[in-house]
Amino acid sequence: MDLNDKLVYKKNFIWEKISDDDRKKVFELGDEYKKFIDSSKTERLSIKEIIKRAEACGFKDIRDLKEVKEGTKVYHVNREKSAVLAVIGKEKIENGMNIVGSHVDSPRLDLKQNPLYEEHGVSLLKTHYYGGIRKYQWVTIPLAIYGTVIKANGEKIEIAIGDEENDPVFCITDLLPHLAKEQSDKKLAEAFEGENLNVIIGSLPADGMHEEKNDKKFKLNVLRLLNEKYGMIEEDFQTAEFEIVPAGKSRDLGIDRGMILGYGHDDRVCAYTSLKAILEMDKPEVTSVALFADKEEVGSIGNTGMHSEFFNNMTAELIMLQNGSSYSDISLRRALANSRMLSSDVSAGVDPIYPNVSEMQNAAVMGKGVAMVKYTGSKGKSGANDASAEYIGKLRKLFNENEVMWQSAELGKVDQGGGGTIAYIMANLNMDVVDIGVPVLSMHAPFEIVSKTDVFMTYKAYKVFYDKCK
Ligand code: MN
Ligand code: MN
Repeated sequence: MDLNDKLVYKKNFIWEKISDDDRKKVFELGDEYKKFIDSSKTERLSIKEIIKRAEACGFKDIRDLKEVKEGTKVYHVNREKSAVLAVIGKEKIENGMNIVGSHVDSPRLDLKQNPLYEEHGVSLLKTHYYGGIRKYQWVTIPLAIYGTVIKANGEKIEIAIGDEENDPVFCITDLLPHLAKEQSDKKLAEAFEGENLNVIIGSLPADGMHEEKNDKKFKLNVLRLLNEKYGMIEEDFQTAEFEIVPAGKSRDLGIDRGMILGYGHDDRVCAYTSLKAILEMDKPEVTSVALFADKEEVGSIGNTGMHSEFFNNMTAELIMLQNGSSYSDISLRRALANSRMLSSDVSAGVDPIYPNVSEMQNAAVMGKGVAMVKYTGSKGKSGANDASAEYIGKLRKLFNENEVMWQSAELGKVDQGGGGTIAYIMANLNMDVVDIGVPVLSMHAPFEIVSKTDVFMTYKAYKVFYDKCK
């Protein structure tokens, strides 16, 4: 390499640097990934899909194990919404783990607990949005409904409507331009109110009621249909979790099929790539761990979010299973403090239409590789996990020696906004953590965009990390 080439930092497009064989793998991985997200539209479905695939690769429920040793593949699911997979290494867990942690919840609309009403011949469902959405993006698009319902007798049922080919879909209306003067004059953030994100669920009155007045016959028709199909009554909404998500499958984007348009890349694209990497692990030197958290989009709170003790508890259990029932608090503390983590979350790619929100010298460009974000946060790095030069240096060496194309990135210009991930929570356990994941366009929109080459490189980064990071 010419010295001048070496002196200047340069990022390359993956497509131009990889072999024909790898180019083929880029498309194969893209196809596999699409199947994964199409069956993982909610956090519950993601965990279900992850565990299904893990079991097929020999992973066992931790509750069924009496011991773990080198090569043991184990999983633990927390309340159907978050999970941890581990492949036990040659070394003691106490000496640290290689952890890749993503989240499987995505921005969406949740139904309120008493959601159903009728107005002017239409039945609707009231919602409360989940995570940071731009509300105007969620109107006039086809929507699907996923629900988990606990009935009065304790029975649990799952409901999914809108993603099968012949399913009906649901929708939120918007004004016609002809009558939108007042709305159009408002600021974007105020023109669409959260309280107005109500989803149409029906429009026919219940039979045998049409002569009566004020009898809620439209609402009643919806309740009759829900009862017929699922045995539900209205009170069951109170003990249910319903999520409204964009209907339809992910699609190849562009005439060259280089990108994928789909719901929930944030952060199922990192969940998928880390899942694939850990499923391929056999007998690692260091225990490999893949973490799939819930509630990241709303602050990682609650018993399925990363602030929960879930991960620490699982680690304690693993230490006990590895040490033959002897367990001490110091082993857990050492295991956590000696660990290395990749907080595998998506990053903002440079939008070709809105490059002005990025500072180009430090922004992630689509197709130039997995994006490493030293710090997130906003306004003077506030709230950021600021990864150390030493840790990033270790990863840089690892990636450069193993042909992982990576780029450093930051989430937009200084003072343009900001964001956070689960990185700082894990860093609080005193382990080394850095954010690293796939660059995304239109993040948090109903349909987000990733580049297949970045997905491929992200998978490769996680795999190399599991295989070789020490
Ligand atoms: Mn995310
Ligand atoms: Mn997000």
